[in-house]
Formats: sequence, structure tokens, C-alpha cells
Amino acid sequence: MNTNPMLPYLGKLIEVRDLAAEIKLLRVELLDGGAEAFKSWLPGQFAFVSAFGMGEAPFGIANTPSDSPLIDFAVARIGSVTTGLHELGEGDFVGVRGPMGNCFPMEKFKGKNLVVLGGGIGGAPLRPVIQAVINQRADYGSLTILWAARNQSLLVFTDEFNDWQAAPDTRLHLTVDQADSAWDHNVGLITDLLKKINPSPENTISVTCGPPVMIHFVTKMLAEMGFPPQDSYVTLEARMHCGLGKCGRCNLGDKFVCVDGPVFNMLEVGNMLETYL
Ligand SMILES: Cc1cc2nc3c(=O)[nH]c(=O)nc-3n(C[C@H](O)[C@H](O)[C@H](O)COP(=O)(O)OP(=O)(O)OC[C@H]3O[C@@H](n4cnc5c(N)ncnc54)[C@H](O)[C@@H]3O)c2cc1C
Repeated sequence: MNTNPMLPYLGKLIEVRDLAAEIKLLRVELLDGGAEAFKSWLPGQFAFVSAFGMGEAPFGIANTPSDSPLIDFAVARIGSVTTGLHELGEGDFVGVRGPMGNCFPMEKFKGKNLVVLGGGIGGAPLRPVIQAVINQRADYGSLTILWAARNQSLLVFTDEFNDWQAAPDTRLHLTVDQADSAWDHNVGLITDLLKKINPSPENTISVTCGPPVMIHFVTKMLAEMGFPPQDSYVTLEARMHCGLGKCGRCNLGDKFVCVDGPVFNMLEVGNMLETYL
């Protein structure tokens, strides 16, 4: 295993496919000690993925280790590194540095109901939470998933919706900001859907990821619904470089998103979301 945390492991792309418009799933097999380093990553952790010659960027790990020895990343094309990654195909190589950051406290979630709220590419780091709950279904209470995107073409992991819905005591609710005529689910922001579903905060944990503005309004609404801040979890993104708490790029108040996060509960976040927006 690498002793220098800045050195990436070599990874081979085993599968590359479109997940949604301008979003690709990269399934990576780690070589040269990488498999050992990543053998037991946890839901919520992330890794830096490099497109050689372009640079590296952080991505949430989008699957659980029990699900597969391979690592999934869902990559939205927004700039130089993500465009470089989108240009790769099966059999090509990437660099992978990690696993990094903290994780969702899945042990604490056991015995509780879970409300999972994913917006757009923000669904990627929540997929391992959903997989972990479904894989050990008897350990958790009800699972309510609210899944949103700007439009239907931007919904991620659509090919898994049937499996999620078929899991015991699991409900999937979909919404898009703008729908075409074929859409027979909710239309509107995820906060509209949350208001309609109106989940009980009783013995319930919420887990939210999406664009900063969505996180802001969803967590505000959850608080109004009675979800205590310590039971309302978010996973945050910030511009970051080292991922080791050294460069000071990703600070949020007195915290570094890379090492203190990216998973926080709202008691820890307090009013720091205002600087994040
Ligand atoms: C912990 C963590 C987990 C992440 N998980 C995922 C994931 O699962 N899938 C995914 O697609 N992306 C994820 N991201 C975001 C991803 O890292 C950025 O999209 C990536 O860094 C963009 O790199 P680029 O070189 O393509 O874009 P750049 O060329 O660097 O930037 C293009 C534009 O995007 C803006 N930008 C870039 N990164 C961010 C950011 N983090 N926040 C706000 N604006 C930004 C830049 O300011 C610029 O305007 C995550 C980020 C973090 C910190």
C-alpha cells in the first residue's frame, strides 16, 4: 500500500456507461495495492480520481464494498478533469487516491427509520447508504427515498429504482423541477415533495445531499418538521486540493470538509451553511 497519501493507486476502468445526461458511471478495478487500501471503505467516504495529464478531483464513492469489490464513481461533466474522465473508456486507466473523509454512522442508524433525500448528482454518495440498508434490511426501520433532479434526463441510478421499490418497507418518491408529458410522478422542487410526504421525525434519521441551495432549504424544512439537528445528516462538497486537512482550501467555519466531513449532522453544521451557499 502507498505510504504517501498524495500518491494515487492505478485503477482500470472495468465499466463506463451513461447514468444520466452528462453523468457517467465509472466502475474501477484498483491495481497495485489499491484494492487492499480500499478493501473496507464506508458509505459517505470519497476519493480523488485523476485523469492523467488533466488533474484530479474528489468524488463520493457511489457503492458499498459488500456490493462489489469494484469501486463506482458517478461523474458529472462540469470542467476540465470531469471532461477528461468522460473521454475515457473501458480498459483505460485512472489514478485513485483515498478512501478519504468520514462516513455516515450506519451503526447509529440501525433500528431507526431513514429518510434519504438526493438531488441530482448528490444522489451518488447516498447510493451506498441505500445499498447498505437494503443489504441488511432487518437492521433498519422504514426507508423513504426522495429522489429529485431538474428534469427526467438528470435522474441518476434510474435502472435501480425497481430494486429499491421492491425492498421491504421501502418507498421511493420521485420529483423533477420540469417534466415532459410522459412523467407520472411529482413535479416540483424536492421541498414540495418533502412537504407532501411529511415524514414523521419520530425515531427517524434524515440524510441529504444535493446542491448547496437544496441542502439549505431541505434541512430548514426538516428542522421545521421536528427533525432534531443531531439526527439530520448532510454530506457537503467544497473545493478541495489535498484531501488531508493541510491545504486549507475546503474549510467550513472551523472544520475542514475533507477530514472532518464530508458527512456532518446539522448540530455540527449550525449556521455555517450560510457561508457554504
Ligand atoms: C467530497 C466531494 C464529493 C464529490 N462527489 C462528487 C460526485 O460523486 N460526482 C460528481 O460529479 N462530483 C462530485 N464532486 C464535485 C467534483 O469534485 C467537481 O465536479 C470536480 O472537482 C470538478 O472538477 P473539474 O476539473 O471538472 O472542474 P473545474 O474545471 O475545476 O471547474 C469547473 C467549474 O465548476 C466549479 N466547481 C468545481 N468544483 C466545484 C465544487 N466542488 N463546488 C462548487 N463548484 C465547483 C468551478 O468553480 C468552475 O466554475 C464532489 C466534490 C467533493 C468535495
